[in-house]
Amino acid sequence: MSALDGLYQEVILDHSKRPIGKGELTPAEGSLTASHHEFNPSCGDEIDVSIAVDPTSGEITSLAWEGQGCSISMASASILAQIVRDETLDGAAARERIAAFREMIHGKTAGEPDEELLGDAIALQGVSKFVMRVKCAMLAWVALEADLTQVDAQR
Ligand code: ZN
Repeated sequence: MSALDGLYQEVILDHSKRPIGKGELTPAEGSLTASHHEFNPSCGDEIDVSIAVDPTSGEITSLAWEGQGCSISMASASILAQIVRDETLDGAAARERIAAFREMIHGKTAGEPDEELLGDAIALQGVSKFVMRVKCAMLAWVALEADLTQVDAQR
């Protein structure tokens, strides 16, 4: 294992031990909200991802999730929650992150993945070598995508 792999392992472990955004959504009054359940039959991971969106700016003001599953799926949800918490993302910006993450996880990124877009999610790059774990890593992100579609329908 290279030093970098070790570092990535640590990021994943950290997120699965102390998950960010796990719990109930507490939306600000007047927010648009959406919630989506996603299940990964090949591993047994389950997740509910909920978001609150400011109806005027379209910004995601909070993201919360509940779930159970392998450490990859749980760490990935936590990393996603961290990105949404630390940055100001509207639907389009969030979709850009999801697309970059999907490319990386499917091993289709040309060159190095963009750390500006992906943050800690870069730690999951190694998952692309394990076809069986791709769905685990994508689970929360796919659920967020469904949430964004629900919110779009309300705006
Ligand atoms: Zn899994």
